Amino acid sequence: MSVSLLCACAAAMLIGIPQQAIAADASAPGATQVAPWKDNKKAAFLLMFDDNAPSHLKNAIPELKKRNFTGTFYVCPGKGWSDAWKKEVPGMGMEYGNHTNTHSGAKDAEKLDEEIKLCAEAIDKAYPDRKTPRLISWGQPGTGKGTWLVTNEQVREACMKYNLIDRGPFMGAAIHYKNGKDMVAVVDKAISSGSAGYIVFHGVGGDWLSASMPDFLQLLDYLVSKQDQIWVTDHISSHKYATERAGAEVKVVEATDKKIQLALTSKISPRIIELDGKSYTNDKADPKLYDAPLTLITKVPASWQKCQITQGAQKTTATAANGTLQYEALPNSDPISIQPATL
Ligand SMILES: [Zn+2]
Repeated sequence: MSVSLLCACAAAMLIGIPQQAIAADASAPGATQVAPWKDNKKAAFLLMFDDNAPSHLKNAIPELKKRNFTGTFYVCPGKGWSDAWKKEVPGMGMEYGNHTNTHSGAKDAEKLDEEIKLCAEAIDKAYPDRKTPRLISWGQPGTGKGTWLVTNEQVREACMKYNLIDRGPFMGAAIHYKNGKDMVAVVDKAISSGSAGYIVFHGVGGDWLSASMPDFLQLLDYLVSKQDQIWVTDHISSHKYATERAGAEVKVVEATDKKIQLALTSKISPRIIELDGKSYTNDKADPKLYDAPLTLITKVPASWQKCQITQGAQKTTATAANGTLQYEALPNSDPISIQPATL
């Protein structure tokens, strides 16, 4: 990310205004930072659940809902796909990832295509109001010996065709994180490194590779206690934010005591998956599918309090504190105008 005052300074030099009138420092009106994560949180955290297990419906989702959290559920519609998964879970604020249709493997590229396609179609059907195509998280299933015979390159090509973003290396409860204390340590690590931490669950309080309910609740309650610092979200939302932020640039077009105008752009390349403090490149995703707003923090004149932020048809208000205004804006879209709100 970078902040630039090029336009304002160039204009000032051309018309002979002393440059200090719009000094290019971080405290000058218009100076803008892109927040590390949504709502200026220090880190993100992703709760992932594999295999549409019955204990997700019975135990995990009710506890997520109680705390207003979302989770990314890597589903296999060809296995245990009940009405609850088809109709109810998507309406509860949960997100689906593609885990192939039957979890039975792929002996060749043709079978891989069929497995991913059927899963992708079922996910689209479960979210009839979402525009398509859209980015969907990809969690490669662990299948029996000798059943996954496709190459990484074939998987990559299928991911590109179906707009799938790899969630990163498998790091799971009951395997890598044995208890609640281990899981809480993943949250602390995400906060200290400013990255997106994640844990993949199978069973929760039952089923296979199960995390116990006390351990799961210890993690969720710890996340609640750290909510001022951590954004609990789904994989694609964090991926879009990190990718857009990595290529973001803010230019100050105009900064007066009456109005600030900014241009927010982002080069959506290379596309970065930031997880667990590491970066992974996914160089094939379509830049047009990166449509999440970024959180911006802009210096405004000290006298401004309630401000109106306009970007295209979008109008929002936010209140400045100590000459600093925090709000959301879409990159690669219309210019952003900020003015004191008129009463
Ligand atoms: Zn699985």
